Amino acid sequence: MMVLYKKNISFLSEHAIDPDKRRYAVKEEGPRHFIDIDFYGKYPYAALPHNYDSAVAKFGEETVITQGIVPWHVQAMLGRLTAAFKEKNFSKIMKNSAEIGHYIADAHVPLHASSNHNGQLTNQKGIHGFWESRVPELLAEKHFDFFIGKASYIKKPGAFIWDRVLESGIAADSVLGFERELTLVFDEDKKYSFEERNGKVIKQYSTAFTIAFDKKLNGMVERRMRQSIEAIASFWYTAWVNAGQPDLRVLALQNFSEKDALEFEALNASWLQASKIIGREED
Ligand SMILES: [Zn+2]
Repeated sequence: MMVLYKKNISFLSEHAIDPDKRRYAVKEEGPRHFIDIDFYGKYPYAALPHNYDSAVAKFGEETVITQGIVPWHVQAMLGRLTAAFKEKNFSKIMKNSAEIGHYIADAHVPLHASSNHNGQLTNQKGIHGFWESRVPELLAEKHFDFFIGKASYIKKPGAFIWDRVLESGIAADSVLGFERELTLVFDEDKKYSFEERNGKVIKQYSTAFTIAFDKKLNGMVERRMRQSIEAIASFWYTAWVNAGQPDLRVLALQNFSEKDALEFEALNASWLQASKIIGREED
């Protein structure tokens, strides 16, 4: 699938964050990024049906949506991407590829599967960005290995993404627990450091604390990133296979339309103007 995807790698990287931008503009967007799975009990959260209609029948739609719908939204996005491939619609394929990647990756983040998503319930505020931004920003480029290998066909996408979400749910306990343990052995002035960024001094987790945290997690951040990458490629591949394997060389010749460009600009402008996310904050 390289012919199509490699050529559009900048688009995919740039637009992978569109779903987060949309959280500033659209109320429905927020719950697509997470699931507070502990709301439904303890691992493996047997009370929660994995079928959306059954979950809604049991808990009511408002509750299900409020607690977050990421495992179902990934499946909905797979449907959209498959349809885009069937239509041979280049712009829809690219947009849905970028966006499904976002939701799949979110599903791999432990704190996207926990009601204590930013440590706000346990006096650990900031841990969300610590895990998903600070650790990779400091370590990924030099120390993480992102060579994954080939994508594979996913026979049961629903079961696949639920497995990943359940893993996230159980890993959230470790993430929160390790930060708490480390905090006990680190002096306050060693835990944080101050750094200038874009002319502003910001407080952040120190390099030493970040490295110690990553060590305690035993490579979890790298592992989850690797699993995300493999999952995203495999979902793209699965959509293409399920759509009957349309010729990618023909699609690779296409470009975005004027209308697409306007749509991207509008989203960006509304994001730049907005001051606040609708729904929960993470950092
Ligand atoms: Zn997100």
